[in-house]
Amino acid sequence: MFMHNKRLQYTVRVAEPNPKLATMMLEQFGGADGELAAAMRYFTQGLGEDDPGRKDMLLDIATEELSHLEVIGSIVAMLNKGVKAQLSEAQMEEAELYQMIGASGNSAKQSLLFGGGPALTDSAGVPWTAAYVDSRAEPTVDLRSNIAAESRAKIVYERLINITDDPGIKEALGFLMTREIAHQKSFEKALYAIEDNFPPGKLPGVERFASLYVNSSQGEGDMDGPWNSGEQWDRVDDLPGSIPMDGGEGMPSVGLDKEDLAVMSQLSVRTMSNPASDPMTGADLGAGAGAGRTTKGDMGGAQSAADASVMADANAKETIAKVKEKSTEA
Ligand code: MN
Ligand code: MN
Repeated sequence: MFMHNKRLQYTVRVAEPNPKLATMMLEQFGGADGELAAAMRYFTQGLGEDDPGRKDMLLDIATEELSHLEVIGSIVAMLNKGVKAQLSEAQMEEAELYQMIGASGNSAKQSLLFGGGPALTDSAGVPWTAAYVDSRAEPTVDLRSNIAAESRAKIVYERLINITDDPGIKEALGFLMTREIAHQKSFEKALYAIEDNFPPGKLPGVERFASLYVNSSQGEGDMDGPWNSGEQWDRVDDLPGSIPMDGGEGMPSVGLDKEDLAVMSQLSVRTMSNPASDPMTGADLGAGAGAGRTTKGDMGGAQSAADASVMADANAKETIAKVKEKSTEA
């Protein structure tokens, strides 16, 4: 069960209202790396988790993220305090109010549509979506994703701290940022508490491909490092000589039954290209300056339009015959 404590996890002291700053803060309220996304990510992982240690940790952190959502949402609400009342009561001059809400983009949307309340959008006004949660219900995968999510949240807090000089906001954001560092550490420990955590999942990799480094982009700028050279790596620099890597022919194939084969031949005959067909097209008819080279209307060497039609017909018949011959062979 959830219980609510009326005191915040960290005290929010905002020096003065600032609706534009409030809009920026929404990134950590309803944004991709924000607190709601974090809470939902760990809450749903925790519900599905069978390991008692991980389940306990995930539900602890999920609940703390909801407390962070409350802190950042309270910052947004405080920053919008003035504008919310002004929009309702209209005590200010129009021009002043216009100036206050910021006439452009999401600032205006937050004021006009959401009335200055903390909205579940990011800083650009994009509504929160469950698609921000990328859990796959495999702990060696999800813990890595959680580690990355915490590091993203840390960086966004860092940027928010850099755009305000309000000491109370800086302090609260510094707390939230630091908690993401702590969460990252817990997830790292939980990952390594699974002794066999790499590669993720159960199936082993194919031995001869597992230590292969393929130097696929070659030329100036090629660089050696521990990520591609040394004892751990078998390097492939001869690209054409190395494919296909299975030693086969490198061509795709599929087994088809008679019916599929017949329909497939019908489709390829209907849509085949005739390399001998070169009539004028709409591009030629409308061509002006800058069109480049166009068809001159020589009708493929025919003397008249009627001849061209006969020639095209003969070419098409020949190509159809060829395709049919090929289909039978297959
Ligand atoms: Mn958090
Ligand atoms: Mn966190």
